[in-house]
Amino acid sequence: MKSLTSQSPIYLETINEYKRQGKAIAHFNISNLDQARAIVEVAEELKQPVIIGASEGERAYMGTDMVRKIVDELNQEYEVPVFLNADHTYSLEKVQEVVEAGYDSVIVDGAKLPYEENVALVKSCVDYVRGYEAKTGKMILVEAELGYIGQSSSLNSALPEGVSEANLTTADQAKDFVLRTGIDMFAPAIGNVHGMLIDAEEPALHIDRLKEISSATDVPLVLHGASGNTDEDLKGSIDNGIAIIHINTEIRKAFRDGEKHYMDEHPNEVAPYKFGHEGQEEMKKVVRSKMELYMQ
Ligand SMILES: [Zn+2]
Repeated sequence: MKSLTSQSPIYLETINEYKRQGKAIAHFNISNLDQARAIVEVAEELKQPVIIGASEGERAYMGTDMVRKIVDELNQEYEVPVFLNADHTYSLEKVQEVVEAGYDSVIVDGAKLPYEENVALVKSCVDYVRGYEAKTGKMILVEAELGYIGQSSSLNSALPEGVSEANLTTADQAKDFVLRTGIDMFAPAIGNVHGMLIDAEEPALHIDRLKEISSATDVPLVLHGASGNTDEDLKGSIDNGIAIIHINTEIRKAFRDGEKHYMDEHPNEVAPYKFGHEGQEEMKKVVRSKMELYMQ
């Protein structure tokens, strides 16, 4: 039986080990139990650890403690380690909430703030987490983001306002930010965008910029908003320092499409487990193809 409450040291070791091996760990968000189980079933099948993420909105919908309990239960039922990340968290108060609820990691998102305010917010959260760790002996990883990449995991007709090449993270900023905040993991803006474009190709990732950021920092790097990026770009990012890749919009779309297809075919069906199952099956295809790519 896996120990659940002391997983975070294993978490950091796993991330570093994957980075050393030139592989990445998959991070997928959930809004319900159907999605959580679909993700972990694929992880189990591929014998790969996986990170389940829940943003502020997803936590508000499911219940912050309930998400922790679901992941605890999945850890009991399946062999692979399942880590729980509090995705995009915008205030110290919300960071405290997830730390006290026993999440394994948290992302402090001050990316939309002016630089110094972002540093101050993240530093205050890191200080709080380190104090909590000293008091309890637990370990919580803190991640933060620099460079605006949009905020919502949705299908978009244009790039979110404020996302531009001028807002890509530079190596100098990344180095300063990581040093001054004391974070465990760093999410740069390298052409990645939250959400997915409906009628256009996603912008290409700036792998050369990633390479510079990777050599200027010594913490694992995390790629957000990877829905819609090409396999080639995702592999290129893993080869140049990315240790965790976040996908949300693509699995949301697959889940929705699976349910919709079933409802179109069976307009009188009312059993949620029947259309939910179709959502899971479509979503599992995306989860499987991403996880297989990250392991290559
Ligand atoms: Zn994100």
